[in-house]
Amino acid sequence: MTTSVPRTGVGWDSHRLAEGRRLVLGGVTVEHPLGLVGFSDADVLTHALIDALLGAAGLGDIGQHFPDTDERWRDADSIELLRRVRGMLGAAGVAPVNVDATLLCEAPRLRPYRDRMRSRLAAALRISPAAVNVKFTTGEGMGWVGRGEGMAAVAIATVA
Ligand code: MG
Repeated sequence: MTTSVPRTGVGWDSHRLAEGRRLVLGGVTVEHPLGLVGFSDADVLTHALIDALLGAAGLGDIGQHFPDTDERWRDADSIELLRRVRGMLGAAGVAPVNVDATLLCEAPRLRPYRDRMRSRLAAALRISPAAVNVKFTTGEGMGWVGRGEGMAAVAIATVA
């Protein structure tokens, strides 16, 4: 029997908010007058998870695999990028055990979307939604998150 040692990684991302953009968080479209700005769909939560998973597997970072100089990734569906990262993990001989993320977001209230986000992320990772935790917090009115200028996310992943 082989035992693989669990490894962890951390991910962080931030994107600006602007009018005229769809707001996509954890692969779910959220009703809001503003959306996140980016080369892809700017799904800040999924990007942080991708970096956590790549970190755990020792596979670099999101910008290395999906550079914004490559037109293939323009307006990319970040859930599709997450699926590709899951494939890279498999090729490296590891699988996600669990992931946990915190989204820093002043508005809107995201609780009604949480279960859908967990399901979408879990399906892309081929793990149970119970192994995908998503938390929301605000900036309490302080700083750029608190002023609603953008959103940020931090994530941790364990692979084995
Ligand atoms: Mg990003």
